[in-house]
Amino acid sequence: MVDAARLKWSWGEVAGYGDQVPLFFYSTLFLEHPETREMFPISMAAQRDRLVTALGRIVSDVDNVDELVPFLQQLGRDHRKFAVLDGHYPAVGSALLATLEHFLGGDWTPDLAADWEAAYGIVAQVMSEAANDSAKESPAWWEAEVVAHERRTIDLAVLRVAPHERLAYVPGQSLTIEHPNRPRMWRQYSPANAPREDGTIDFHVRMADAGQVSPALVELTQPGDTLCIGPPMGTGLCLPDTPPRHVLMLAGGTGLAPLKAIAEQIAADYDGRQVYLYWGARHHRDLYDLPALRDFAGRHDWFHIVPSVAEGEQTQTVHKGNPVGIALRQARWLECDVFVCGPPGMVATSVSALAHAGVPERQIHREEFNGTGEEAPA
Ligand SMILES: Cc1cc2nc3c(=O)[nH]c(=O)nc-3n(C[C@H](O)[C@H](O)[C@H](O)COP(=O)(O)OP(=O)(O)OC[C@H]3O[C@@H](n4cnc5c(N)ncnc54)[C@H](O)[C@@H]3O)c2cc1C
Repeated sequence: MVDAARLKWSWGEVAGYGDQVPLFFYSTLFLEHPETREMFPISMAAQRDRLVTALGRIVSDVDNVDELVPFLQQLGRDHRKFAVLDGHYPAVGSALLATLEHFLGGDWTPDLAADWEAAYGIVAQVMSEAANDSAKESPAWWEAEVVAHERRTIDLAVLRVAPHERLAYVPGQSLTIEHPNRPRMWRQYSPANAPREDGTIDFHVRMADAGQVSPALVELTQPGDTLCIGPPMGTGLCLPDTPPRHVLMLAGGTGLAPLKAIAEQIAADYDGRQVYLYWGARHHRDLYDLPALRDFAGRHDWFHIVPSVAEGEQTQTVHKGNPVGIALRQARWLECDVFVCGPPGMVATSVSALAHAGVPERQIHREEFNGTGEEAPA
Protein backbone atom coordinates (compact mmCIF):
# COMPACT_ATOMS: atom_id res chain seq x y z
CA MET A 1 0.00 0.00 0.00
CA VAL A 2 1.50 3.35 -1.08
CA ASP A 3 1.65 6.05 1.60
CA ALA A 4 0.14 8.97 -0.36
CA ALA A 5 0.98 11.60 2.27
CA ARG A 6 4.64 10.52 2.34
CA LEU A 7 4.79 10.59 -1.45
CA LYS A 8 3.34 14.12 -1.61
CA TRP A 9 5.63 15.39 1.10
CA SER A 10 8.74 13.98 -0.58
CA TRP A 11 7.74 15.39 -3.99
CA GLY A 12 7.21 18.81 -2.37
CA GLU A 13 10.77 18.65 -1.02
CA VAL A 14 12.25 17.64 -4.38
CA ALA A 15 10.19 20.10 -6.46
CA GLY A 16 11.64 22.88 -4.28
CA TYR A 17 14.94 22.44 -6.16
CA GLY A 18 13.26 23.87 -9.30
CA ASP A 19 15.05 23.50 -12.63
CA GLN A 20 17.80 21.35 -11.13
CA VAL A 21 15.36 18.44 -10.86
CA PRO A 22 14.55 17.95 -14.58
CA LEU A 23 18.19 18.76 -15.40
CA PHE A 24 19.40 15.91 -13.19
CA PHE A 25 16.63 13.59 -14.36
CA TYR A 26 17.30 14.02 -18.10
CA SER A 27 21.10 13.84 -17.69
CA THR A 28 20.72 10.56 -15.81
CA LEU A 29 18.23 9.21 -18.35
CA PHE A 30 20.32 10.09 -21.42
CA LEU A 31 23.57 8.92 -19.84
CA GLU A 32 22.20 5.54 -18.80
CA HIS A 33 19.86 5.05 -21.78
CA PRO A 34 21.15 7.07 -24.76
CA GLU A 35 18.52 5.43 -26.98
CA THR A 36 15.81 7.54 -25.26
CA ARG A 37 17.41 10.84 -26.37
CA GLU A 38 15.87 10.72 -29.83
CA MET A 39 12.33 10.80 -28.43
CA PHE A 40 12.92 14.40 -27.30
CA PRO A 41 13.35 17.69 -29.18
CA ILE A 42 16.86 18.96 -29.87
CA SER A 43 16.37 21.87 -27.48
CA MET A 44 15.31 20.65 -24.05
CA ALA A 45 14.60 24.13 -22.62
CA ALA A 46 10.80 23.89 -22.66
CA GLN A 47 10.92 20.22 -21.79
CA ARG A 48 11.98 20.73 -18.20
CA ASP A 49 8.73 22.33 -17.11
CA ARG A 50 6.71 19.54 -18.64
CA LEU A 51 8.28 16.83 -16.50
CA VAL A 52 7.80 18.74 -13.28
CA THR A 53 4.22 19.70 -14.18
CA ALA A 54 3.24 16.14 -15.13
CA LEU A 55 4.85 14.63 -12.02
CA GLY A 56 3.28 17.29 -9.80
CA ARG A 57 -0.14 16.54 -11.26
CA ILE A 58 0.31 12.77 -10.78
CA VAL A 59 1.51 13.11 -7.20
CA SER A 60 -1.21 15.55 -6.20
CA ASP A 61 -3.89 13.17 -7.52
CA VAL A 62 -2.22 10.03 -6.21
CA ASP A 63 -5.10 9.41 -3.78
CA ASN A 64 -7.77 10.47 -6.30
CA VAL A 65 -8.01 7.54 -8.68
CA ASP A 66 -11.04 8.90 -10.58
CA GLU A 67 -9.00 11.89 -11.75
CA LEU A 68 -5.63 10.21 -12.03
CA VAL A 69 -6.48 7.19 -14.16
CA PRO A 70 -8.04 9.09 -17.13
CA PHE A 71 -5.12 11.57 -16.99
CA LEU A 72 -2.56 8.75 -17.15
CA GLN A 73 -4.45 6.95 -19.88
CA GLN A 74 -4.47 10.11 -21.99
CA LEU A 75 -0.77 10.63 -21.25
CA GLY A 76 -0.04 7.05 -22.38
CA ARG A 77 -2.00 7.49 -25.61
CA ASP A 78 -0.34 10.87 -26.29
CA HIS A 79 3.13 9.38 -25.82
CA ARG A 80 2.64 6.96 -28.73
CA LYS A 81 3.60 9.65 -31.21
CA PHE A 82 7.00 9.98 -29.53
CA ALA A 83 7.61 6.29 -30.24
CA VAL A 84 7.57 5.48 -26.52
CA LEU A 85 7.70 1.70 -26.14
CA ASP A 86 6.92 -0.50 -23.13
CA GLY A 87 10.68 -1.06 -22.80
CA HIS A 88 11.29 2.66 -22.14
CA TYR A 89 9.25 2.78 -18.93
CA PRO A 90 11.83 0.99 -16.70
CA ALA A 91 14.54 3.38 -18.00
CA VAL A 92 12.43 6.40 -17.04
CA GLY A 93 11.54 4.80 -13.69
CA SER A 94 15.15 4.19 -12.74
CA ALA A 95 16.16 7.78 -13.69
CA LEU A 96 13.24 9.09 -11.63
CA LEU A 97 14.21 7.08 -8.54
CA ALA A 98 17.86 8.16 -8.90
CA THR A 99 16.70 11.80 -9.10
CA LEU A 100 14.54 11.52 -6.00
CA GLU A 101 17.35 9.81 -4.09
CA HIS A 102 19.80 12.50 -5.15
CA PHE A 103 17.66 15.41 -3.93
CA LEU A 104 16.23 13.77 -0.81
CA GLY A 105 19.65 12.65 0.51
CA GLY A 106 19.22 11.29 4.03
CA ASP A 107 15.39 11.40 3.76
CA TRP A 108 15.44 8.75 1.02
CA THR A 109 14.55 5.73 3.21
CA PRO A 110 13.85 2.17 2.04
CA ASP A 111 10.12 2.68 2.82
CA LEU A 112 9.96 5.83 0.72
CA ALA A 113 11.86 4.11 -2.11
CA ALA A 114 9.32 1.27 -1.99
CA ASP A 115 6.43 3.79 -2.14
CA TRP A 116 7.86 5.49 -5.22
CA GLU A 117 8.70 2.22 -6.92
CA ALA A 118 5.15 0.96 -6.40
CA ALA A 119 3.56 4.26 -7.48
CA TYR A 120 5.71 4.47 -10.61
CA GLY A 121 4.90 0.83 -11.44
CA ILE A 122 1.17 1.65 -11.43
CA VAL A 123 1.68 4.83 -13.49
CA ALA A 124 3.73 2.94 -16.10
CA GLN A 125 1.22 0.09 -16.23
CA VAL A 126 -1.82 2.37 -16.73
CA MET A 127 -0.01 4.44 -19.38
CA SER A 128 1.32 1.51 -21.35
CA GLU A 129 -2.01 -0.39 -21.25
CA ALA A 130 -3.85 2.68 -22.57
CA ALA A 131 -1.20 3.12 -25.30
CA ASN A 132 -1.42 -0.55 -26.31
CA ASP A 133 -5.25 -0.41 -26.39
CA SER A 134 -5.24 2.68 -28.58
CA ALA A 135 -2.65 1.05 -30.90
CA LYS A 136 -5.29 -1.56 -31.76
CA GLU A 137 -7.61 1.18 -33.04
CA SER A 138 -5.57 3.96 -34.59
CA PRO A 139 -2.04 4.86 -35.68
CA ALA A 140 0.26 6.80 -33.34
CA TRP A 141 0.20 9.66 -35.88
CA TRP A 142 -1.10 10.28 -39.35
CA GLU A 143 0.94 11.43 -42.33
CA ALA A 144 -0.88 14.16 -44.22
CA GLU A 145 -0.12 15.86 -47.49
CA VAL A 146 -0.43 19.63 -47.64
CA VAL A 147 -2.86 20.17 -50.52
CA ALA A 148 -3.22 23.94 -50.16
CA HIS A 149 -1.30 26.69 -48.41
CA GLU A 150 -2.68 30.21 -48.54
CA ARG A 151 -0.83 33.11 -46.99
CA ARG A 152 -3.67 35.36 -45.83
CA THR A 153 -1.61 37.98 -43.95
CA ILE A 154 2.07 38.58 -43.34
CA ASP A 155 2.01 36.31 -40.30
CA LEU A 156 -0.87 33.94 -40.99
CA ALA A 157 -1.55 31.04 -43.33
CA VAL A 158 -4.50 28.74 -43.90
CA LEU A 159 -3.33 25.19 -44.63
CA ARG A 160 -5.39 22.35 -46.03
CA VAL A 161 -4.03 18.87 -45.39
CA ALA A 162 -5.16 15.46 -46.63
CA PRO A 163 -4.29 12.68 -44.15
CA HIS A 164 -3.27 9.45 -45.90
CA GLU A 165 -5.64 7.56 -43.59
CA ARG A 166 -8.93 8.85 -42.21
CA LEU A 167 -8.46 10.91 -39.02
CA ALA A 168 -11.63 11.19 -36.90
CA TYR A 169 -12.08 14.19 -34.62
CA VAL A 170 -14.91 16.25 -33.15
CA PRO A 171 -15.20 20.01 -33.93
CA GLY A 172 -13.74 21.94 -31.00
CA GLN A 173 -10.90 19.43 -30.45
CA SER A 174 -7.31 20.16 -31.38
CA LEU A 175 -4.72 18.01 -33.16
CA THR A 176 -0.95 18.18 -32.86
CA ILE A 177 1.29 18.86 -35.85
CA GLU A 178 4.96 18.02 -36.38
CA HIS A 179 6.79 19.78 -39.23
CA PRO A 180 9.60 17.79 -40.92
CA ASN A 181 12.07 20.65 -40.22
CA ARG A 182 11.15 20.68 -36.53
CA PRO A 183 11.41 17.03 -35.50
CA ARG A 184 9.71 15.98 -32.26
CA MET A 185 8.24 19.44 -31.70
CA TRP A 186 4.52 18.79 -31.69
CA ARG A 187 2.19 21.78 -31.37
CA GLN A 188 -1.58 21.90 -30.99
CA TYR A 189 -3.73 23.38 -33.77
CA SER A 190 -7.52 23.31 -34.05
CA PRO A 191 -9.21 22.06 -37.21
CA ALA A 192 -11.22 24.89 -38.74
CA ASN A 193 -13.78 22.66 -40.39
CA ALA A 194 -16.19 19.90 -39.43
CA PRO A 195 -15.03 16.48 -40.70
CA ARG A 196 -15.44 16.26 -44.50
CA GLU A 197 -16.25 13.40 -46.84
CA ASP A 198 -12.80 13.70 -48.44
CA GLY A 199 -11.07 13.77 -45.01
CA THR A 200 -9.24 17.06 -45.63
CA ILE A 201 -8.61 19.36 -42.65
CA ASP A 202 -8.01 23.13 -42.59
CA PHE A 203 -5.75 24.84 -40.05
CA HIS A 204 -5.38 28.57 -39.38
CA VAL A 205 -1.81 29.17 -38.23
CA ARG A 206 -0.47 32.45 -36.92
CA MET A 207 3.28 32.85 -36.59
CA ALA A 208 4.36 33.30 -32.96
CA ASP A 209 7.19 35.77 -32.37
CA ALA A 210 10.41 33.75 -32.24
CA GLY A 211 8.36 30.55 -32.23
CA GLN A 212 9.68 27.24 -33.54
CA VAL A 213 6.87 25.45 -35.33
CA SER A 214 4.38 28.12 -36.42
CA PRO A 215 6.94 30.02 -38.59
CA ALA A 216 7.80 26.70 -40.29
CA LEU A 217 4.11 26.10 -41.02
CA VAL A 218 3.52 29.64 -42.28
CA GLU A 219 6.77 30.31 -44.15
CA LEU A 220 8.42 27.00 -45.04
CA THR A 221 5.42 24.88 -45.99
CA GLN A 222 4.00 24.37 -49.46
CA PRO A 223 1.61 22.05 -51.28
CA GLY A 224 3.09 18.60 -51.68
CA ASP A 225 4.85 18.67 -48.28
CA THR A 226 4.08 16.01 -45.71
CA LEU A 227 3.23 16.84 -42.11
CA CYS A 228 2.61 14.45 -39.22
CA ILE A 229 -0.63 14.88 -37.29
CA GLY A 230 -1.21 13.50 -33.78
CA PRO A 231 -4.53 12.20 -32.41
CA PRO A 232 -7.34 14.56 -31.33
CA MET A 233 -7.19 16.13 -27.87
CA GLY A 234 -9.61 17.85 -25.49
CA THR A 235 -13.37 18.06 -25.31
CA GLY A 236 -13.76 21.35 -23.40
CA LEU A 237 -14.82 23.33 -26.45
CA CYS A 238 -17.05 20.71 -28.07
CA LEU A 239 -20.84 21.10 -28.43
CA PRO A 240 -22.32 19.76 -25.18
CA ASP A 241 -24.62 16.79 -25.19
CA THR A 242 -27.52 18.82 -23.75
CA PRO A 243 -30.76 20.02 -25.40
CA PRO A 244 -29.78 22.58 -28.06
CA ARG A 245 -29.60 26.22 -27.03
CA HIS A 246 -28.83 29.28 -29.09
CA VAL A 247 -25.09 29.83 -29.37
CA LEU A 248 -22.84 32.81 -28.70
CA MET A 249 -19.29 32.46 -30.03
CA LEU A 250 -16.49 34.83 -29.01
CA ALA A 251 -13.27 34.44 -31.00
CA GLY A 252 -9.94 36.25 -30.87
CA GLY A 253 -7.61 35.86 -33.90
CA THR A 254 -7.09 32.22 -34.90
CA GLY A 255 -9.41 31.28 -32.02
CA LEU A 256 -11.89 31.48 -34.87
CA ALA A 257 -10.78 28.07 -36.20
CA PRO A 258 -12.55 25.66 -33.82
CA LEU A 259 -15.64 27.91 -33.65
CA LYS A 260 -15.94 27.83 -37.43
CA ALA A 261 -15.71 24.02 -37.25
CA ILE A 262 -18.53 23.97 -34.68
CA ALA A 263 -20.69 26.25 -36.86
CA GLU A 264 -20.19 23.81 -39.75
CA GLN A 265 -21.12 20.93 -37.45
CA ILE A 266 -24.37 22.71 -36.53
CA ALA A 267 -25.07 23.36 -40.23
CA ALA A 268 -24.58 19.67 -41.07
CA ASP A 269 -27.40 18.62 -38.72
CA TYR A 270 -29.35 21.82 -38.22
CA ASP A 271 -31.60 21.82 -35.14
CA GLY A 272 -33.09 25.32 -35.15
CA ARG A 273 -30.58 27.29 -33.10
CA GLN A 274 -29.31 30.77 -33.85
CA VAL A 275 -25.53 31.21 -33.82
CA TYR A 276 -23.89 34.60 -33.22
CA LEU A 277 -20.15 34.80 -33.87
CA TYR A 278 -18.31 37.85 -32.52
CA TRP A 279 -14.81 37.74 -33.97
CA GLY A 280 -12.13 40.21 -32.91
CA ALA A 281 -8.75 41.00 -34.44
CA ARG A 282 -6.20 43.73 -33.94
CA HIS A 283 -6.44 45.49 -37.33
CA HIS A 284 -8.79 45.24 -40.29
CA ARG A 285 -6.14 43.30 -42.22
CA ASP A 286 -6.15 40.63 -39.51
CA LEU A 287 -9.79 39.71 -40.23
CA TYR A 288 -8.31 37.09 -42.54
CA ASP A 289 -11.39 34.90 -43.01
CA LEU A 290 -14.15 37.47 -43.32
CA PRO A 291 -15.19 36.68 -46.94
CA ALA A 292 -15.61 32.98 -46.09
CA LEU A 293 -17.63 33.81 -42.96
CA ARG A 294 -19.87 36.21 -44.86
CA ASP A 295 -20.38 33.58 -47.51
CA PHE A 296 -21.37 31.07 -44.81
CA ALA A 297 -23.77 33.60 -43.26
CA GLY A 298 -25.28 34.19 -46.72
CA ARG A 299 -26.06 30.49 -47.00
CA HIS A 300 -27.37 30.05 -43.42
CA ASP A 301 -29.79 32.68 -42.14
CA TRP A 302 -29.34 31.44 -38.55
CA PHE A 303 -25.63 32.36 -38.57
CA HIS A 304 -24.67 35.95 -37.72
CA ILE A 305 -21.15 37.35 -37.87
CA VAL A 306 -20.08 40.47 -35.98
CA PRO A 307 -16.42 41.33 -36.72
CA SER A 308 -14.48 43.83 -34.67
CA VAL A 309 -11.03 45.42 -34.49
CA ALA A 310 -9.15 46.62 -31.44
CA GLU A 311 -7.23 49.24 -33.44
CA GLY A 312 -8.34 51.08 -36.56
CA GLU A 313 -11.52 52.78 -37.71
CA GLN A 314 -15.04 51.60 -37.02
CA THR A 315 -16.85 51.00 -40.34
CA GLN A 316 -20.42 50.17 -41.29
CA THR A 317 -19.75 46.46 -40.95
CA VAL A 318 -16.78 46.21 -38.59
CA HIS A 319 -17.13 47.32 -34.96
CA LYS A 320 -14.42 48.84 -32.84
CA GLY A 321 -13.79 47.16 -29.48
CA ASN A 322 -13.49 43.63 -28.17
CA PRO A 323 -15.93 40.79 -28.93
CA VAL A 324 -17.27 40.33 -25.40
CA GLY A 325 -17.87 44.06 -24.85
CA ILE A 326 -19.75 44.38 -28.13
CA ALA A 327 -21.76 41.19 -27.56
CA LEU A 328 -22.83 42.22 -24.05
CA ARG A 329 -23.88 45.67 -25.27
CA GLN A 330 -26.13 44.04 -27.87
CA ALA A 331 -27.89 41.28 -25.85
CA ARG A 332 -27.95 39.33 -22.57
CA TRP A 333 -27.11 35.75 -23.66
CA LEU A 334 -28.32 34.15 -20.42
CA GLU A 335 -29.99 31.24 -22.20
CA CYS A 336 -27.14 30.54 -24.62
CA ASP A 337 -24.26 28.12 -24.81
CA VAL A 338 -21.20 30.33 -25.06
CA PHE A 339 -17.93 29.28 -26.74
CA VAL A 340 -14.85 31.40 -26.12
CA CYS A 341 -11.54 30.83 -27.89
CA GLY A 342 -8.40 32.92 -28.40
CA PRO A 343 -5.36 34.24 -26.54
CA PRO A 344 -5.36 33.77 -22.74
CA GLY A 345 -6.04 37.44 -21.93
CA MET A 346 -9.01 37.61 -24.27
CA VAL A 347 -10.46 34.34 -22.87
CA ALA A 348 -10.03 35.45 -19.25
CA THR A 349 -11.59 38.87 -19.86
CA SER A 350 -14.51 37.33 -21.76
CA VAL A 351 -15.24 34.66 -19.17
CA SER A 352 -15.21 37.12 -16.28
CA ALA A 353 -17.42 39.63 -18.16
CA LEU A 354 -19.89 36.85 -19.02
CA ALA A 355 -19.96 35.63 -15.42
CA HIS A 356 -20.50 39.20 -14.25
CA ALA A 357 -23.39 39.51 -16.72
CA GLY A 358 -24.99 36.42 -15.16
CA VAL A 359 -24.24 33.75 -17.77
CA PRO A 360 -24.10 30.45 -15.81
CA GLU A 361 -20.61 28.94 -15.75
CA ARG A 362 -21.83 25.55 -16.98
CA GLN A 363 -22.91 27.21 -20.24
CA ILE A 364 -19.46 28.69 -20.91
CA HIS A 365 -17.04 26.51 -22.93
CA ARG A 366 -13.55 27.83 -23.44
CA GLU A 367 -10.14 27.12 -24.92
CA GLU A 368 -6.97 29.18 -24.65
CA PHE A 369 -4.38 29.26 -27.43
CA ASN A 370 -1.77 29.88 -24.83
CA GLY A 371 1.41 29.53 -26.84
CA THR A 372 2.25 26.43 -24.85
CA GLY A 373 0.40 24.24 -27.27
CA GLU A 374 3.59 22.26 -27.10
CA GLU A 375 3.52 18.53 -26.82
CA ALA A 376 6.52 16.45 -25.87
CA PRO A 377 7.04 13.33 -23.78
CA ALA A 378 6.76 14.23 -20.10
C1 LIG B 1 -5.60 23.79 -27.53
C2 LIG B 1 -4.74 24.69 -28.40
C3 LIG B 1 -5.12 24.92 -29.71
C4 LIG B 1 -4.36 25.78 -30.51
N1 LIG B 1 -4.77 26.05 -31.79
C5 LIG B 1 -4.08 26.94 -32.55
C6 LIG B 1 -4.54 27.30 -33.86
O1 LIG B 1 -5.56 26.81 -34.37
N2 LIG B 1 -3.81 28.22 -34.57
C7 LIG B 1 -2.67 28.80 -34.05
O2 LIG B 1 -2.04 29.64 -34.74
N3 LIG B 1 -2.22 28.47 -32.79
C8 LIG B 1 -2.88 27.55 -32.05
N4 LIG B 1 -2.41 27.20 -30.80
C9 LIG B 1 -1.06 27.70 -30.37
C10 LIG B 1 0.01 26.70 -30.93
O3 LIG B 1 -0.15 25.43 -30.33
C11 LIG B 1 1.45 27.13 -30.66
O4 LIG B 1 1.60 27.36 -29.28
C12 LIG B 1 1.86 28.38 -31.42
O5 LIG B 1 1.71 28.16 -32.83
C13 LIG B 1 3.33 28.71 -31.12
O6 LIG B 1 4.14 27.60 -31.45
P1 LIG B 1 5.65 27.80 -31.89
O7 LIG B 1 6.30 26.46 -31.94
O8 LIG B 1 5.74 28.65 -33.12
O9 LIG B 1 6.22 28.67 -30.73
P2 LIG B 1 7.10 28.14 -29.48
O10 LIG B 1 8.43 27.74 -29.94
O11 LIG B 1 6.30 27.14 -28.73
O12 LIG B 1 7.18 29.47 -28.65
C14 LIG B 1 5.98 30.11 -28.18
C15 LIG B 1 6.33 31.47 -27.63
O13 LIG B 1 7.15 31.29 -26.47
C16 LIG B 1 8.37 31.97 -26.65
N5 LIG B 1 9.41 31.06 -26.10
C17 LIG B 1 9.70 29.81 -26.52
N6 LIG B 1 10.70 29.28 -25.78
C18 LIG B 1 11.01 30.23 -24.87
C19 LIG B 1 11.96 30.30 -23.82
N7 LIG B 1 12.78 29.26 -23.53
N8 LIG B 1 11.99 31.43 -23.08
C20 LIG B 1 11.15 32.47 -23.34
N9 LIG B 1 10.26 32.46 -24.31
C21 LIG B 1 10.19 31.36 -25.06
C22 LIG B 1 8.56 32.17 -28.13
O14 LIG B 1 9.30 33.31 -28.40
C23 LIG B 1 7.14 32.29 -28.63
O15 LIG B 1 6.67 33.61 -28.60
C24 LIG B 1 -3.17 26.37 -29.99
C25 LIG B 1 -2.78 26.11 -28.67
C26 LIG B 1 -3.56 25.28 -27.88
C27 LIG B 1 -3.15 25.04 -26.45
